[in-house]
Amino acid sequence: TRDSFDLFGKPAAPPASRSVPVMVPLPVPGPYSYAVPDGMPVFPGSVVQVPVGPRKVIGIVWDESAQDGNVPARKLRPIEHVFDCPPVSDEMRKFIQWVAGYTLTPPGLVARMAVRAPAALDPEPMVEGLVLTGETPDRLTPARKRVLEMAENSAGWTRLGLARAVGVSASVIDTMMKKGVFDTVFLPPPPIVGTPDADHAPPVLSGDQAEAAEALRDLVAEGGFGVTLIDGVTGSGKTEVYFEAVAETLKRGKQVLILLPEIALTSVFLKRFEDRFGAKPGEWHSDLPPRMREKVWRQTAEGAVRVVAGARSALFLPFQELGLIIVDEEHDSAYKQEDRVFYNARDMAVVRSRIGGFPAVLASATPSVESQVNAMAGRYERLHLPGRFAEAAMPDLKTVDLRRHPPQRGGFLSPVMLSAIKDTVGRGEQALLFLNRRGYAPLTLCRVCGHRFQCPNCASWLVEHRFRGQLMCHHCGHAEPVPEACPECGTLDHLAACGPGVERIAEEVEQHFPDKRTIILSSDMAGGVKRLRLELDAVANGEADIVIGTQLVAKGHNFPLMTLVGVVDADIGLSNGDPRAAERTFQLLSQVTGRAGRTGRKSIGLIQTYQPSHPVMQAIISGDADAFYEREIAEREKTSLPPFGRLAAVIVSSENRSDAENHARGLRAAAPPSATIDILGPAEAPLALIRGRYRFRLLVHARRSDDVQGYLSAMLDKGPKPRGSIHVQLDIDPQSF
Ligand code: ADP
Ligand code: ZN
Repeated sequence: TRDSFDLFGKPAAPPASRSVPVMVPLPVPGPYSYAVPDGMPVFPGSVVQVPVGPRKVIGIVWDESAQDGNVPARKLRPIEHVFDCPPVSDEMRKFIQWVAGYTLTPPGLVARMAVRAPAALDPEPMVEGLVLTGETPDRLTPARKRVLEMAENSAGWTRLGLARAVGVSASVIDTMMKKGVFDTVFLPPPPIVGTPDADHAPPVLSGDQAEAAEALRDLVAEGGFGVTLIDGVTGSGKTEVYFEAVAETLKRGKQVLILLPEIALTSVFLKRFEDRFGAKPGEWHSDLPPRMREKVWRQTAEGAVRVVAGARSALFLPFQELGLIIVDEEHDSAYKQEDRVFYNARDMAVVRSRIGGFPAVLASATPSVESQVNAMAGRYERLHLPGRFAEAAMPDLKTVDLRRHPPQRGGFLSPVMLSAIKDTVGRGEQALLFLNRRGYAPLTLCRVCGHRFQCPNCASWLVEHRFRGQLMCHHCGHAEPVPEACPECGTLDHLAACGPGVERIAEEVEQHFPDKRTIILSSDMAGGVKRLRLELDAVANGEADIVIGTQLVAKGHNFPLMTLVGVVDADIGLSNGDPRAAERTFQLLSQVTGRAGRTGRKSIGLIQTYQPSHPVMQAIISGDADAFYEREIAEREKTSLPPFGRLAAVIVSSENRSDAENHARGLRAAAPPSATIDILGPAEAPLALIRGRYRFRLLVHARRSDDVQGYLSAMLDKGPKPRGSIHVQLDIDPQSF
């Protein structure tokens, strides 16, 4: 242990019993103190196992300043174990503390995102490998001969690996080991990904791209914190350009984090990265098998993984020397986590870079209003890519006025849409129909008595999934078989499906185009992410004619034959009363129509709507994004909505409706007086009942300069304390308001 010997090599006096603060993964206000057994090598950042009551938990040794120094070490329980893993860095500890303070989450719950289960914390076991001794076996059977050849060709084989590679049984190898042909050695576990090479295959950039890339390279070379917003239509080469910043960072020996909103579906991205850098990035998302996650965590900490492409939680990976964060599709609402720790990964990425003192790059074809305002105010640099790369042109976009061109009875596709599909598939090209609704129909009712099928646990309708023969709740997962008779009036076979889901659109398409290959892409189709990746590849390879998809197809994909994108119902998101509805709809429609015409073929986008003169529709078809943003930003400024003012939501939930409402009232009454901060509510939350819990919401509206966290903390301190099933959740910068 490092400090227990002095200069003369004599054992030093045993260190005075000391204690350290340890951040435990529990909802408590701060670290707990523990005694350090003599000689145990423990310093800030060490990952340790400590007892809490009867449990053993994994904690992080925190900074001495967090210690409440009054309890003598001998009265404290000792640390039980120090894991042999890289320590949690100063930067990461600062970041955890910052996120906890901003989101008003107990720091231990944030810290929990930064450590793993013990299997990842202790070093990966060495693997037993074979080396040739130079002995030759007395009898060289054909099988043994092939084994020898393979082992002479390349080294580092395990016993089973070699047997499998040659196609013989392991007993052949065992016999050769007995005869002294092989010796065994211990090898370190192989790295999960190769080392990306900045100079592997650099692209030839267009003039605009080269200029933007140059600006980014300069930023990386200068070092230091700064945020750059790259905007440019889908297909303008934003990825190509930020790859140059990645290359420059790699050359400087630093690690890179690329955040993506739908990592589970971005096999295409991984492939593209590999083409550019000669090796894949480490991958990080919730669908990764646990053993793989442990390896990525460990190898990122050790520095073997140089670039991670991941979902929002990758922000908490233990990079050794992070030098750049990219947030691709920075406007995407998938960056907002609304579970345990409520945080926006785009915003926290900026904080992470500021703490680390390195650049952050945000990329989007449709930046968030927040980022637009930050760029206008000069807080962010802006790099603009004006047009699509090479000969690829933007699709020609038109609205289809459903009042003038209504669909046939019982259908949802206008004759205009149907004839465009016919033309497209007739040329051997592909059409994409976009509808952001899973299942067959969003509402089922009884034609005789009007009974509507509602979820027993939530304030929401059950959605029919005809393919599975079930009625399902999209909020809690409740599912029941579609009944033959109405449970209310008992009438047989009189249930009516109201409105379309993707399955119903697929049915309509199949009636009109029975000999074309139709495929549904939606997150709930059987087979999970693996199957989805395969199907996306199949679409990219032209193995489907008509694709019907939810928002999962809207993002990032590049389908070379896709020349028609049809939006089935552009009005869905506009009518829910959320002030962000216009921004969201604009982003989604731009994104999905941007799937068309990525490789130079002429392409069109058709947008079915009942309100073709709505400013969002006008902005989309005119391609005048600036006008849209200008209007939207002026509106937000006038009403002091984000980013001109600040919002926070307080959600109070309980199994008992009036408990939730009363508690929310009590909190409101406890709010400190303020001349500038308003509270709205309590009112029923947008989803008033989820999983059997009733929800009420207070909305806190403040000026930009107000200390919202201080205000909320004071309110919670003074207000009633949750008891029974009451739970209070804070959401700073809520997505919908
Ligand atoms: P964005 O990220 O803005 O949507 P991409 O970087 O994905 O744009 O580029 C769109 C397409 O154009 C991709 O297939 C990409 O490979 C290609 N592309 C863009 N710029 C170049 C370039 N300089 N050289 C070769 N191909 C490019
Ligand atoms: Zn439900």
